[in-house]
Amino acid sequence: MTLIVQKYGGTSVGTLERIRAVAERVAAARAKGNDVVAVVSAMSGETNRLLGLGKELAKLPAEREMDSLVATGEQVSAALLAIALTELGVKARSLVGHQTRIFTDGVYTKARIRSIDVETFRATIADGIVPVVAGFQGVDQHGNITTLGRGGSDTTGVAIAAALKADVCEIYTDVEGMFTTDPNICKEAKKLDRITFEEMLELASLGAKVLQLRSVEIAMKYGIPIHVRSSFSDATGTLVGADDDSLESVVVTGVACDKNEVKVTVRDLPDKPGVVARVFGVLAEENVSVDMIIQSESRGGKADLTFTVTHTDLMKTKDVAERVSKEIGAGAVQIEDNVAKVSIVGAGMRSHAGVAAKMFRLLAEQKVNIQAITTSEIRVSCLIDKAHADQVVRSLHKGFGLG
Ligand code: ADP
Ligand code: ASP
Ligand code: MG
Repeated sequence: MTLIVQKYGGTSVGTLERIRAVAERVAAARAKGNDVVAVVSAMSGETNRLLGLGKELAKLPAEREMDSLVATGEQVSAALLAIALTELGVKARSLVGHQTRIFTDGVYTKARIRSIDVETFRATIADGIVPVVAGFQGVDQHGNITTLGRGGSDTTGVAIAAALKADVCEIYTDVEGMFTTDPNICKEAKKLDRITFEEMLELASLGAKVLQLRSVEIAMKYGIPIHVRSSFSDATGTLVGADDDSLESVVVTGVACDKNEVKVTVRDLPDKPGVVARVFGVLAEENVSVDMIIQSESRGGKADLTFTVTHTDLMKTKDVAERVSKEIGAGAVQIEDNVAKVSIVGAGMRSHAGVAAKMFRLLAEQKVNIQAITTSEIRVSCLIDKAHADQVVRSLHKGFGLG
């Protein structure tokens, strides 16, 4: 029998009407003789609403309590979907973190899955019951509720698919698949029939939403094919899978934009060994991941250090940076959140020269200043003023002939 894990995002379970539609889709897959595990996100807007409530009470609320708070969003949609399925005559049972026995490390707000107890799933499925899993959450070794980071239900879905050796993990969302760029920003964006794990990994890490980065890492490691598709239609979506030789490597596959980063600058850092290590060492201890990094040339024994972090980590980062700056005799800490990171990705970049140069030229033609650059073998990213982000996405999309 085929085992399908179906993960439904926030918009797909955004209203009771949508939840009924999802129930019908699950029922249809069952009726075709498949075993199904459903994984759900919170109803759209709910996670932000809950985060807002916590932040109204405290500037830096305890992360443990914030995880307990936001995990309830997924609990609600899982129970509602189980109710809707039962109404259709499909046996279903909602399961939250401690019931699914998805064990994570203890890093609140961005926990990583350590193990999944497959027996709970196997037994439920063997009884002819559809497990309806509250995504985004797990429990640590002490039984504390943890969450997997924004967009984390994707990771729940793929991790369950890997643990159960499912045939496919279907990710249902509000667009028809993975496009050459965000179709909500650029009308000319085209749906991709296929994309490699590697390219998807880059796009996910660059803010393309659709799939949380961790979920792609797991899919790639365990070879789980992912089918990204719409819960609003029956159209075939995008297949994310291993590189296959019949695929001609396209130079640029997609354009991504991340508006969720903030730029932090520590001024007048003493230019001597160990200083940069100290700043990033403390940030790492606080579980802050840093993305782009640039250090200016030293002037009179002092240099500026600029890096980016995600919005979620802003308050923590500011706190740490100010503390460390004082300790090592550096200057002021500046925060700028009017930045965006635009990126181009393509496996064919490996074998083509001049791709970065073309991107810089397209930015120059738009009179857009580049504040930081990072690259990998198959990607180039530039940090720019947020006000120009959408226009730059459209011009890169056109400039690289993706429309
Ligand atoms: P869900 O709530 O289903 O998890 P997400 O909001 O996480 O959905 O991801 C879907 C959104 O990702 C789309 O609505 C779209 O605006 C955005 N997006 C960004 N880049 C892309 C892309 N290259 N292709 C498709 N969608 C994209
Ligand atoms: N509800 C969570 C979020 O909004 C997880 C998810 O939707 O995947 O980030
Ligand atoms: Mg998502």
